Amino acid sequence: MSVYQRMGKLVRPHWPVLALAVACMLVVAGATAGLAWMVKPLLDDIFFKALQEPERARKMMIYLPLAFLALQVVKGGAIYTQTVLMVKVGQRIVAQLREAIYEHLQDLSLSFYDHTRTGLLISRMTNDVSLIQESVSSALAGAFRDLFSIAALVVLVFYREWRLAIIASIVFPLAMIPFIKFGQWTRRISTRTQQAVAEMANQLEETITGARVVKAFTAEEQEISRFTEVSRRILALTLKEEKVRALSSPFMESLGAVAIAFIIGYGGYRVIAGQSSPGTFFSFMTALILLYDPLKKLARSQTILQRGVAAAVRVFELLDTPPQIMDRPGAGELAPLKKTIEFKAVHFSYGREEVLKGIDLKIKAGQIVAIAGRSGGGKTTLVNLLPRFYELEKGEILIDGKDIREVTLKSLRQQIGLVTQQTILFDDTIRANIAYGRPRATTREIEAAASAAYAHDFILELPQGYETMIGEQGVRLSGGQRQRLAIARALLKDAPILILDEATSSLDTESEYYVQKAIDNLMVGRTTLVIAHRLSTIYSADRIVVLAGGMIAEEGRHEELMSLQGEYHKLYEMQFNSD
Ligand code: ADP
Ligand code: MG
Repeated sequence: MSVYQRMGKLVRPHWPVLALAVACMLVVAGATAGLAWMVKPLLDDIFFKALQEPERARKMMIYLPLAFLALQVVKGGAIYTQTVLMVKVGQRIVAQLREAIYEHLQDLSLSFYDHTRTGLLISRMTNDVSLIQESVSSALAGAFRDLFSIAALVVLVFYREWRLAIIASIVFPLAMIPFIKFGQWTRRISTRTQQAVAEMANQLEETITGARVVKAFTAEEQEISRFTEVSRRILALTLKEEKVRALSSPFMESLGAVAIAFIIGYGGYRVIAGQSSPGTFFSFMTALILLYDPLKKLARSQTILQRGVAAAVRVFELLDTPPQIMDRPGAGELAPLKKTIEFKAVHFSYGREEVLKGIDLKIKAGQIVAIAGRSGGGKTTLVNLLPRFYELEKGEILIDGKDIREVTLKSLRQQIGLVTQQTILFDDTIRANIAYGRPRATTREIEAAASAAYAHDFILELPQGYETMIGEQGVRLSGGQRQRLAIARALLKDAPILILDEATSSLDTESEYYVQKAIDNLMVGRTTLVIAHRLSTIYSADRIVVLAGGMIAEEGRHEELMSLQGEYHKLYEMQFNSD
């Protein structure tokens, strides 16, 4: 399907409103031509016949101004109605696109977010969507109205003076050539401008969220020069675009003037020779002059339309990005874990190099399995495969013998609680953040989860307790407090499988103490996969799995692994010794 067909598909459901708008446009076109038509009786019947037929002239003097007024009022009303209707259609399409994009973003897999920049997505959602709206509701509507007006006026022009009209109709099509060229020209420039604007938005987003890093590396100047480069590029492109646009109307006007000069000469000759009346000539001229405005607007709406089409191409491209991880047709519900989680010959790569090269791992329900290994060894990758954040390449993961790709994502992910090193809290109340996975949880349940997570006491000390806002406008929490809220959230979700990915790694010893106690509460009765830098967590695990070179190098309990004097022993010497 082409972009135009797809835009058409967006517009089609609104056809009743559009039909009404088109009717208004026809009224506008008719009224415009009517105004030009009236010039002939005005001149011939009032001014030139005032002496020969004073009676008739006097009558016309009453009717014509009234008719003029009536036409103008009807035209105004029709323009108003049509504008409102078209804005309605345009804005509905905007809302529809916005919601479709957001829904699609929720479906897209994590791997999509790994290689897509935030600024770019925000620009699709805001900039591009409003460009499409502009092109539908102002440009497209205007273009139709202008086309109808042009048609009505052209009919009048031929009716009044077909000889002159032929001259005009040779010159005006010639003016269409530069008009089309100008359109292509601005379209090319505007595509480049949009890219530069998206780039700028992205840098802005990056350096605002990463302000701390920028300062820490004293990279301000580097960022400023990067920003200045894009900003100057946008400036140059915008100036160029505006120049082309500014050039287009004087250029077209000059072409028009050539035609008008011809017409005045020839038309004047015909009136003097008695072959035409002054009223006919001026009615013709009025129609011709009235033609200029819709023609000019048509040229302008052409560029807006082009911009809208370019934006639509980008938006559709995003909407067409397939979510890589979806429910298979006929996927069933996953029953709560009873017996085992099994990784069978699991291979995985993010791109070229394999991160996991054949992992076999069987975890019994209720067990705590610790995963150890060097940084970058694939620990996070391994645990991320279980909730299907990424899709494995070869092998399979089975829960109670059922392949996780054969069950719904929802039923799978509902069984997994996840606490990672970076806690994401939303700009909402403490209560809403804890209840994120279960919005209908009761106050008692929320408080019980907070207590078990060692968070209840500090929450009560906050200005509005559980109703305190977190985030930009709210309180600032320490790393340990944030982590305990994340644990409370996981407790409330009460999933049978738990993944802890370095949940305490970024904390100082004191906050780590409470977080660790909270984690101990969280692990009770759950099957846990834990990645930890802390010795005590590893100690208490039923089994330790050591990842090296994308494979399981060693596995066993702490003492067994120590006595092997292998990879685990080395890790222990490097990391845990400092505990
Ligand atoms: P660990 O958790 O053991 O430190 P990870 O599983 O995070 O290791 O990373 C394993 C390897 O995969 C590393 O080489 C890392 O660079 C790479 N990697 C991790 N996440 C991504 C990603 N989203 N895209 C591409 N490569 C990744
Ligand atoms: Mg990791």
